[in-house]
Amino acid sequence: MKNLVIAIDGYSSCGKSTTAKAVAATLHYAYLDTGAMYRGVTLFLLENNIAFDDMARIEHALRHDIHISFKRNSKTGRNELCLNDKIREDDIRQMRISNSVSEVSVIVQVRHAMVAQQQRMGRRRGVVMDGRDIGTTVFPDAEVKIFMTADVEVRARRRQEELAGKGEHVDLADIIENLRKRDHIDSTRAESPLRRASDAVLLDTTHITINEQVDFVLDKVSSALFAAYANKQLHG
Ligand code: C5P
Repeated sequence: MKNLVIAIDGYSSCGKSTTAKAVAATLHYAYLDTGAMYRGVTLFLLENNIAFDDMARIEHALRHDIHISFKRNSKTGRNELCLNDKIREDDIRQMRISNSVSEVSVIVQVRHAMVAQQQRMGRRRGVVMDGRDIGTTVFPDAEVKIFMTADVEVRARRRQEELAGKGEHVDLADIIENLRKRDHIDSTRAESPLRRASDAVLLDTTHITINEQVDFVLDKVSSALFAAYANKQLHG
């Protein structure tokens, strides 16, 4: 079976990562959460008191001090983000990181470093990546491109439940504000902004379940595999 790249982009908290993980597990593909990488960089800058406009220190840190990787948690089977070889999965999901990550993701040097690493990690294909610019910038040749959206209030409720499950109780209004702010910054930045690639399929998750989201993507994967097979039969 041909190894595809499956790009799942879209607005914050539409269910991208839940869907991407389930699709990857079904296909026995790797899964890469690119948002976690930007969150990891944000955590490093905050912990080391590096201002987001201090380009000299940021460039130095990206080159020498920030090492982003993923480690499989044998208990949960999940890939967890490591910053300098230490698992920081819980820390990067906190609101203080969500409140700053989009400002860090605007920084061109940060984007170049993360995109280059993501391209290296996906070079063998057979990977599902979720993010904001996978279908447009990281893997513009991805065989399957999905662009997810959903009503902001529905997204905020889902995020609120997710945070509550981890013991962090946040007002719905604060979450809505955070999602709106991040969507705005992500969509309007100069470097690889969040936008739907012209060949991406739109998936609105407002009224559908996770299982339906996963089935939707798997259906697109079947079509892409069939197209690749038919193309090979025709052209050898
Ligand atoms: O996916 P998640 O919500 O964890 O992403 C956190 C933030 O990381 C996004 O709001 C965005 O600012 C940034 N991001 C990005 N490009 C990606 C993935 C995430 O700019 N490919």
